[in-house]
Amino acid sequence: CLITGAASGIGAATACLLAAQGAKKLILVDFDEEKLADFAFSLPCERQLIVGDVTDEHLWHDADLTGLTHAVVNAGIGAGGAIADLPLAEWRRVLSINLDGAFLTLQAAMRAMSSRGGAIVMTASAAGLKAEPGIAAYAASKAAVIQLARVAAKEGAAAAIRVNSIAPGGVETPIWRGIPAIAEMIEKEGEDAVFKSMASIATPLGRYAKPEEIAAQIAFLLSDSCGFVTGACFVSDGGYTL
Ligand code: NAD
Repeated sequence: CLITGAASGIGAATACLLAAQGAKKLILVDFDEEKLADFAFSLPCERQLIVGDVTDEHLWHDADLTGLTHAVVNAGIGAGGAIADLPLAEWRRVLSINLDGAFLTLQAAMRAMSSRGGAIVMTASAAGLKAEPGIAAYAASKAAVIQLARVAAKEGAAAAIRVNSIAPGGVETPIWRGIPAIAEMIEKEGEDAVFKSMASIATPLGRYAKPEEIAAQIAFLLSDSCGFVTGACFVSDGGYTL
């Protein structure tokens, strides 16, 4: 199974779960070399590490994905900024990682699976479904990932490749520190307090998810239990989009 953004958060939790469930080999991609190496060391299965940027075409050209049967297209960044104030460079930075990177990963996975089929899960977000102010680039990138997965499901079906997306609401991972205003709040109040207060605003269940809960849904969608599921977007958001 290929997993991008594997050094942290949802990607790392998915790698742990799939290894525990008996995955034969994991191909783990991340640009944080130190974190990836530290983390992967502990996994009880064969693993291949690819250190690099998912937006780099050369990375995918050189990657050996022989025998790939599963993929988690997951690397992404968080970002904020109102449309009226958003510099084009920031828009492009977010779209480049969250959408171009997802496209290149998906393309490499579908090519590698073309002769024997497989299953792919793409990490979108509830932000791709529900409109909120101040997250235009992130939300647009994730809405596009949901539609990309649907088109890929139709294109991949003849080759027995299933493609689904997940749309998590808030998840307790380091991604939030990439948004300057939230990083500042975390510095002042601590992570637990900030997650709790953000969840209390619009998440009916009153909490954010643990990355392990999202990993369980990814593993489910990858598994044969979902053998007839393709093109779906699986929302798990504590009721946020209701
Ligand atoms: P995270 O920051 O814990 O992990 C993301 C990982 O991706 C990091 O290890 C980072 O180094 C890696 N990465 C980022 N850009 C990369 C690139 N260009 N090339 C290679 N590696 C790259 O965040 P997470 O919350 O686990 O996020 C995983 C995915 O889940 C993202 O696509 C994110 O948008 C999505 N998501 C997160 C939440 C949330 O609340 N945490 C909610 C919905 C969706």
